[in-house]
Amino acid sequence: MPTLAGLHGADQRRPLYSRFPALYFATPAWVKRAARSAFAARQGRIERLIARYLDVLERAPEGDGRPVPLVLTHDVDTGEGLATLPRLLAVEESLGLSSLTFVVTHRYAWARETLASWAERGHAFGVHDTTHDNRLAYLEPADVERRIARAQAALGPLDSGAFRAPAFLRSPSLYEGMARRVRVDFSTSDSALVWPHPGDGLGSPFPVSHRSLTVVPTTLPRDGELLALGLDRAATLDLCRRKASQLARVGAPAVLLTHPDPTFTDTARRIDAYGELLAWLRSSGRFQLTAPADALAELQRRATCEVAA
Ligand SMILES: [Zn+2]
Repeated sequence: MPTLAGLHGADQRRPLYSRFPALYFATPAWVKRAARSAFAARQGRIERLIARYLDVLERAPEGDGRPVPLVLTHDVDTGEGLATLPRLLAVEESLGLSSLTFVVTHRYAWARETLASWAERGHAFGVHDTTHDNRLAYLEPADVERRIARAQAALGPLDSGAFRAPAFLRSPSLYEGMARRVRVDFSTSDSALVWPHPGDGLGSPFPVSHRSLTVVPTTLPRDGELLALGLDRAATLDLCRRKASQLARVGAPAVLLTHPDPTFTDTARRIDAYGELLAWLRSSGRFQLTAPADALAELQRRATCEVAA
């Protein structure tokens, strides 16, 4: 059952790094890694977190058995991430797949021609804020709208109308501000494994509509969460396959977020593991392997439940 708290993140507490963005970005990678591991250790209950995560859909009724939409997404938070992105795209293309990448438009250099050449190969693009200072959700609606408009203008014809808020931080103000600009919002999880806190999200794996928006929860475990829990490759793939199987069973879209940024999916081993997961998703026959543009249209069509403001 979707809840407003899930859509708006009303059960979130504003994190310190949204007041001091340097904490999020200027921190050395190893400190962030250590902090994430410490976070996981403090949670202290990795197995219980995973059990809780998988329990959400365990008793949900079965869907119609048809293949469900699969949407591969990337948030590119840094210039280093943008440099690594082609390696992820190459893995997807080798399997006949393509993805939707959310760009931080005014933080690092990027070239419209480069993105356009990827778009010609079936990939799509959306907005992930102008600067990723993690303050977007705490601005007035008019300022949220201005920022998103500025980012969309930078992308120009490459903008698909899809959007994801930085760090999954949401608020009523964010949704009011994005409503006139965004077609499909990916700023919430169905029920987060770890981040921003366990269970954060819409509370449903199905797309909903909110005013003219389609809100599509990110439903597969995210790379940052899996790394924070310290799961090895086998455990990571196992958890992703189990959640993907649940989504296929209940008839909900499988939406995957992978970051090409440093400390996320940026090493040959992790990119190879990403390819292994994609190959499994492809061969299972339970997922629609459409280009992101078609998947976005399908997700809008499926968003029949209206979540009122
Ligand atoms: Zn981000």
